[in-house]
Amino acid sequence: MAKIVCVLFPDPADGYPPRYARDTIPVIDGYAGGQALPRPEGLDFSPGELVGSVSGELGLRSFLEEHGHTLVVTSDKEGPDSVLDRELSDADVLISQPFWPAYLTAERIARAPKLKLAITAGIGSDHVDLNAAIARDITVAEVTYSNSISVAEHAVMLTLSLVRNYLPSHQWVAEGGWNIGDSVARAYDLEGMDVGVIAAGRIGQAVLRRLAPFGVKLHYTDKRRLPVAIEEELGLTFHPDARSLARACDVVSIHAPLHPETEGLFDDALISSMRRGSYIVNCARAQIVDRDAVVQALQSGQLAGYAGDVWYPQPPEADHPWRTAPHNGMTPHVSGASLSAQARYAAGTREILEAWLAGRPIRDEYLIVDGGHLAGTGAVSYTAGGAGH
Ligand code: NDP
Repeated sequence: MAKIVCVLFPDPADGYPPRYARDTIPVIDGYAGGQALPRPEGLDFSPGELVGSVSGELGLRSFLEEHGHTLVVTSDKEGPDSVLDRELSDADVLISQPFWPAYLTAERIARAPKLKLAITAGIGSDHVDLNAAIARDITVAEVTYSNSISVAEHAVMLTLSLVRNYLPSHQWVAEGGWNIGDSVARAYDLEGMDVGVIAAGRIGQAVLRRLAPFGVKLHYTDKRRLPVAIEEELGLTFHPDARSLARACDVVSIHAPLHPETEGLFDDALISSMRRGSYIVNCARAQIVDRDAVVQALQSGQLAGYAGDVWYPQPPEADHPWRTAPHNGMTPHVSGASLSAQARYAAGTREILEAWLAGRPIRDEYLIVDGGHLAGTGAVSYTAGGAGH
């Protein structure tokens, strides 16, 4: 029987369950590109419930306990006295979410001799030291595609929010004002702007598709060029690298995984090479940009805005400079954790567990590391090297 440790973000401050704004979520038929939606044998929650927080338990408890397994759920993940560190010592499986990451460092892996499977309930397994997982033959799996569209919608929202100066304008009315001049002094139309994505994978492509009707000029860079038919359909300009793209754009939205090739990519030199008054949206991973270079560029006006939902570490310290930098539109890590996304990544987590516990192979598209090497999606999108640790 397996022991499963699951690290989830805390319940809402107002208690659990929340009073939901809506009764249902839409049923979607599938993912673009033909990948099947998660298909667990059973589901013990109603889609639309808050299953991503501690009391939601990803809807896993009854399934696991009925099969004789042990489930420990906690949000206490920092420091040697944390519940995570205590429980990891004899755990077989660790489940974590990028929003509230249980950083599975080489040191933690060394202190978890039984650990065989690390599941990311979501997308992005950079909180796992992949080299250490490879060395210890720990399988790393994530729920590929589960929240890609959620993040793409968020990136489009942030792009419009920055360019149109939405947050400060809302703040004026919330404070009782009617300050049109203050609100519009930094407001522009997106139409006609050059907008580029760093990486045109599932999320990056979805962002391009959603922005195309805005009458913008679209750019992208990626390790592999998209099919000509897609480039022509969306009117895309391909750039061989981020440097070339950054110089040619007014808005850059980052959608690459964090790995050694992308860590620190947007440093002072690259940001300085952008057009004055550019905007950066980053819903990928914080370490792809240089924290202080972003702050300096916002202060100097080189960047007109920076928005995103990814930080390092998570949660960030109370005095993290992105909380107070001018013209920032930062939120906690929420873009991929909408209730719609939670329904899919919780179902996908259960699908992975059902397969693994029954000794069946995990879907190839869910695999990042397996059998002591990068596998599945991991073999395509990651390079070993342990970025972020
Ligand atoms: P995909 O694997 O579909 O796409 C990633 C793309 O990045 C691939 O096309 C890959 O190219 C490309 N890529 C990798 N390295 C580079 C590089 N050095 N330069 C340019 N392109 C590169 O992933 P998703 O689109 O689903 O997700 C992307 C990232 O978004 C995740 O890794 C995660 O970090 C983040 N994310 C954030 C969420 C949030 O809540 N904020 C939620 C979900 C994901 P190739 O395939 O050719 O190797």
